[in-house]
Amino acid sequence: MKVKALKEHTCFCCGEAIKKGEVCFAFIVNPENPEKSEFDVIYTCLRCSGEETCQIRVRQKGATAW
Ligand SMILES: [Zn+2]
Ligand SMILES: [Zn+2]
Repeated sequence: MKVKALKEHTCFCCGEAIKKGEVCFAFIVNPENPEKSEFDVIYTCLRCSGEETCQIRVRQKGATAW
């Protein structure tokens, strides 16, 4: 999901800083323990969201688009 960063994040893929107020993409990571139902959210920068190799990396983490 395309979001505006509410605070600083680090791009999961390239490690670049996503500054507060910048547009980035948020993905939900499927919890390892479904009973805990705690969802992790990872963020990727705009550049990574458009690159297929980056999308694959995100998918391999088990993350799904919001
Ligand atoms: Zn990135
Ligand atoms: Zn990337």
